[in-house]
Amino acid sequence: MRQTLKESLKSLAMFLSNNPLAKSYYKGQGVIFMLHDILQDTPKTPDPYRNPSVPFLDRFLTHLKQVGYAFVDLDEICALLEQNKPFKNIAHFTLDDGFASTYTNAMPVFKAHNAPFTVYITADYINKPGMLNLDQAKALAKEPLCTIGGHTKTHPRLAKLREREREC
Ligand SMILES: [Zn+2]
Repeated sequence: MRQTLKESLKSLAMFLSNNPLAKSYYKGQGVIFMLHDILQDTPKTPDPYRNPSVPFLDRFLTHLKQVGYAFVDLDEICALLEQNKPFKNIAHFTLDDGFASTYTNAMPVFKAHNAPFTVYITADYINKPGMLNLDQAKALAKEPLCTIGGHTKTHPRLAKLREREREC
């Protein structure tokens, strides 16, 4: 579970360099971070862009707060955009697909930092191995910091569907 400072900085550098949205982070802009599976420990080949570890995520949120970022929910971001107001020094985290680790690993970190987060759940993935079970999905829906969003029923590649299929 322990990670050296050098490893942390390397992970952070990878996270930022791989995340197109994070380029705005350097300019003090608002950022929405898109994550997937949140790992308990740092893997041998880290992919912190999509799948950060719990220790990495915890340190990263701590860092964002230290450099002046506020964590906001999506409603606040939408309101700022609708009013054409500056979108600065705010961050939001989204988690795609509905991995079980969203409940077991990510939610405790976001709660510890009082950071709103959004989970985009693929309906047919519920109760599949490694994914949220129904009770976990219901518990997330009851968590005040969590917003649940749709991520299709079967997770097709939308860009490859014909227009009519996309509308269904
Ligand atoms: Zn997805």
